[in-house]
Amino acid sequence: MPELPEVETAKQGLAPVLEGRRIERAVARRPDLRFPLPDGFGQRLTGRTVTSVKRRAKYLLIELDDGVTLLAHLGMSGCFRIHENHVPPLEKHDHVILSTDQGVEIRFNDPRRFGFMDLVEAGELKTHPLLKDIGPEPLGDYFNAAILTRSLKGRRTPIKSALLDQTVVAGLGNIYVAEALFRAGISPKRTAATIAGGRASKLYRAIIEVLELAIAAGGSSISDHRQPSGEPGYFQHSFAVYGREGEACPGCDCSLSATGGIRRIQQSGRSTFYCTKRQR
Ligand SMILES: [Zn+2]
Repeated sequence: MPELPEVETAKQGLAPVLEGRRIERAVARRPDLRFPLPDGFGQRLTGRTVTSVKRRAKYLLIELDDGVTLLAHLGMSGCFRIHENHVPPLEKHDHVILSTDQGVEIRFNDPRRFGFMDLVEAGELKTHPLLKDIGPEPLGDYFNAAILTRSLKGRRTPIKSALLDQTVVAGLGNIYVAEALFRAGISPKRTAATIAGGRASKLYRAIIEVLELAIAAGGSSISDHRQPSGEPGYFQHSFAVYGREGEACPGCDCSLSATGGIRRIQQSGRSTFYCTKRQR
């Protein structure tokens, strides 16, 4: 499931082929993804020039020269495939197609159709229901240990749940929360409000590090991403704890004890992976 680094990788793949380019043709091959596509979707994109491709949390923002923004979310299984030279036959789950004046074809492929797209009028982005309550970008200028501490203050929920709350910090999901908490040595069960001072600094740095490492790994696959075969720009990264229940812990010697190794617990109905010895 795409999280912030995967969306950032998609952005980095799309920007060079879309920015400054005119959309010659835009086709939706079905009327809906997760939600219905806006009326006149294809017509409203056709003939427009893309002024910029941005990311906010897990949303892609493709800004057009008429002030409208194409807002896209990858959902569970969505990806953009870029075909620059050879354009292969359409696949069943290629739902939206954009062709640029350079002859590049971009296809949004989404087998499970949890992704969605919307056209947002100029000036309505900040108040858009999906975007208006989102917290600071973890890699942006308005996020640091002090801001993190302030948003966790008074929260009696486990830190795992607090970090999944998009108003605290934008774009973190189940995978990178588990990875960041492991790196910071913080138990996912710890009460959010108790994280301050050195612990908050550690957590802040861990969040930045896991995201940057994943983006760097994704970034290196961009050339593949843009191959005619057009595989998505995200892939299974190697994780320290996520999905590793029962495996040896890469952070300490806990695996030597009978109850050691990476544990899996359920929190708010979702799996959490962690080391009970290293993470406190
Ligand atoms: Zn351990």
